Amino acid sequence: MILDDILEILRKKSDDKAYTINQKSYTYKELYKFVCNIYNFLLEKNKEKKTVIVLGHKEVYMKATFLACSFAGITYVPVDENIPLERLEKIEEQINPALIIGKDISKKEIFEIMNKDNFEEINQIYLKPDDIYYIIFTSGSTGIPKGVKVTYKNIDSCINWLKRITNIKKEIILNQANFSFDLTVADLYLSLVSGSEQVVLSNQNINLKEMFENLKLSNCNIAIITPTFADLLLLDKRFERNLLPNLHTILFCGEKLLKSTVDKLYSRFGNIRIINCYGPTETTFAVTSIEINKKMLNYEEIPIGIPKEDVEIYILDENKKQLPDGEIGEILIVGESVADGYINNLQNNNFIIYNGKKAYLTGDLGYIDNGILYYKNRKDKQIKFKGYRIELSDIENNLYSLGYIEKNVVVSKKKNNKVLKIIAFVILKENINKTEKEIEMDLLQKIPQYMCPKIKIIKEFPINENGKLNEKELLEEI
Ligand code: AMP
Repeated sequence: MILDDILEILRKKSDDKAYTINQKSYTYKELYKFVCNIYNFLLEKNKEKKTVIVLGHKEVYMKATFLACSFAGITYVPVDENIPLERLEKIEEQINPALIIGKDISKKEIFEIMNKDNFEEINQIYLKPDDIYYIIFTSGSTGIPKGVKVTYKNIDSCINWLKRITNIKKEIILNQANFSFDLTVADLYLSLVSGSEQVVLSNQNINLKEMFENLKLSNCNIAIITPTFADLLLLDKRFERNLLPNLHTILFCGEKLLKSTVDKLYSRFGNIRIINCYGPTETTFAVTSIEINKKMLNYEEIPIGIPKEDVEIYILDENKKQLPDGEIGEILIVGESVADGYINNLQNNNFIIYNGKKAYLTGDLGYIDNGILYYKNRKDKQIKFKGYRIELSDIENNLYSLGYIEKNVVVSKKKNNKVLKIIAFVILKENINKTEKEIEMDLLQKIPQYMCPKIKIIKEFPINENGKLNEKELLEEI
């Protein structure tokens, strides 16, 4: 399994680059030392093998700790340090971790631990196929983030599939997203199983100029990114072949890939392989893929592909009956990639058994045509905004928890199916004097910046003829 392959590569202690951040590189030999030291530290310090939270922002200790935990048979939870304290506490309460690397063990301490030159090498891989490999937290409609439990089997199947569809050799792989999102699972582990270099783009205190400098220096040949990120880069004329002469593959996942994005990439980069992957965190990074070609620019929309070998996909109607090809319904994912549910069985209803197999009801609407899956939109209030997955009711419930809001409705303003803005319409409780800015500042204590909506205080909500909220009229106000 993948941990055997990774350990074999690490044990070679090569001087090849394994990890680069802000122009500082670490070799496989160094990474192996870091992993061994943290592994020994964890086996000693956490004998019960309770879950560990790894907090930080893409520092090399995060990657080393993920590996050390996995070899030691300890589940890890990656959390980006830009998360508000209250949100981190909600995660801590659910996990009850043995320790938080990056907090209980400070960054300075973990750097000291992992840099010891006399260390015992890894002598055993403790993780078993059905054990939980990691838990990734995602927006929960109740206002409490929900943790998806992904098993070693899940991730092993995912990475082996990615190896096949990318036909990966020894490469330089670009990472975009924070380690707390499952998009990064692909670049973190694909790089390790192939002995490749992972170059990460720090998202902290970085401007576009530095970003382009780092991109150029990365000299990457595979990029694993969201369509939003590609669109952002494409806004700048510098994003073309001369910037990344060796880029041969872009792997997209996480959002609808638009024809306009693909078209621009072809014209800027000429010969480039574009792979579109689809899947939620609950089914381990992705479950379908397709290599895009120029002919597809004439289709109504870019397909999301065909399922990986150990997964079946069905389109269901509202009564969970299978729909024929061509009809739009909810995408059901069945098989090996389906995770082990949410931690503490929170909102577990979408994890079901279908034809005797593990399955996940995605809430995504799509259809199958000629064996190829297409994505339409969502059937609920979950959105993707700038690549981030957000439940609008997560924001609503956090607004209520401020204690001074009588009623609120959070909506998204879309153009061509793409979310441009999130707006929260709020009615304040009697005698409360708060400005929109003050509400925003209060809310930022509870939810991450990327989830924070534009606040609009109103006196009453518009109602339609059926007595229901008139969302259309609300949106006209902005
Ligand atoms: P996440 O759990 O953050 O990966 O988000 C999963 C959701 O992102 C899916 O349920 C879809 O709604 C959306 N998504 C992921 N990949 C794609 C894709 N290739 N095209 C359209 N939507 C996607």
